[in-house]
Amino acid sequence: MPLPRITNKRQFVQGLLIAAALLLPFASISGNPFLRMDIDKMTLFLAGMPLRIDQFYLLLLVILLFVVSFLLVTAVLGRVWCGWLCPQTVFNDLAELLGRTSRKQVSPAVARVSEHFFALVVASLGAFNLFCWFMSPRQAASNLLHFSDHQAMFYTFLLLTLLGYLNLILVKRSFCHSYCPYGRFQTALMDAGTLNLTFLEESRDRCLRCNACIKTCPMGIDIRTGFQVECIGCGRCIDACRGVMERRPDGFGLIDYRFGTVKGTGFRMGNTTIALLTATLVLTGALVWGVVNRSETAFAVQRVATADSRTLPDGSVAFPWRAIIGNRSEKSRVYSLRIAGEPSGRVELLGQTRDITIAANQHRDVIFMIHIPRNSTPPAKILLELVSDGRPTATVSVSP
Ligand code: SF4
Ligand code: SF4
Repeated sequence: MPLPRITNKRQFVQGLLIAAALLLPFASISGNPFLRMDIDKMTLFLAGMPLRIDQFYLLLLVILLFVVSFLLVTAVLGRVWCGWLCPQTVFNDLAELLGRTSRKQVSPAVARVSEHFFALVVASLGAFNLFCWFMSPRQAASNLLHFSDHQAMFYTFLLLTLLGYLNLILVKRSFCHSYCPYGRFQTALMDAGTLNLTFLEESRDRCLRCNACIKTCPMGIDIRTGFQVECIGCGRCIDACRGVMERRPDGFGLIDYRFGTVKGTGFRMGNTTIALLTATLVLTGALVWGVVNRSETAFAVQRVATADSRTLPDGSVAFPWRAIIGNRSEKSRVYSLRIAGEPSGRVELLGQTRDITIAANQHRDVIFMIHIPRNSTPPAKILLELVSDGRPTATVSVSP
């Protein structure tokens, strides 16, 4: 009886991953990109929500959450990440699949040329896709087409494509075997319940010693000798063994995935997994809290370093200042600047301090003057207030 194959499932998951990588840069929510680190706007869009680079604590939480959840996946799934989901594996599998399909239909010479062609196509698609996480796909395509105006980007694209091509043609899986630092690091995350690929010791006497599992292994491993750190958990040996054993009466594969190393052990969490899961939940909670409670306005004020104070004809003095105002909300807003508290009659603001219109998720610099009347001593501190819809939205204390 035919036994189920792992390869179909792996290819299905990889297909979903490729579709997500290609399509997500086009997705948007309420006019915002679904997921993008927009370099122009210095803004990370997370599920359509803009997080400006000046909201550093939120960006830090996002990065930490990404790293910790990545480690958690490794603690639970082991090197299955490497064999199923890592871009190096996905690109290699895709190029191999295209090459294998073409080999069946054309002569060996044409197949060799098409292998290089497919490697080039996959590498250039990968390079283009990389840009699409930092700018819109339309802008990325336009910049590359008008390469004389965007030479740095164009040469980066060529370099990435070349590196990707050489990787697919020359390096291939030797990267996972010999160079990938994360592969080595993963062993430190292995837990008592981590998913492993195991030769079923209890069935060793049924092994036919056909070596089909070794011949198919992209890492050149004999899994029958026990756990090896080089194994990327791709499952090819499972399929090879099932292919051999299913022809026998009462046949079943002798290699399989197993949580932990003890027979009959289901999924269970070891200390590393519990610690990483706790960290992931805490960071997720902190991120949600930070996003819900984040300020919708950014407000900073600084002296204009390149301009001196000006003495006006009536003897009063005006000091030039710059206000940096960020509208982090989803709609355009009109702001004004004023001095907080009771008007003292001594100090006032000059310049554009009213009707400062800022579009959604945009920043604007506004130059204004702090005016000190003649023969007045400037106060040690002034509290500047940013007002929107008649309500103060932020304050900054300055020393004129
Ligand atoms: S031993 Fe099996 S799962 Fe591990 S890399 Fe080789 S074929 Fe893949
Ligand atoms: S494919 Fe199966 S039967 Fe053949 S050598 Fe490997 S473990 Fe033994």
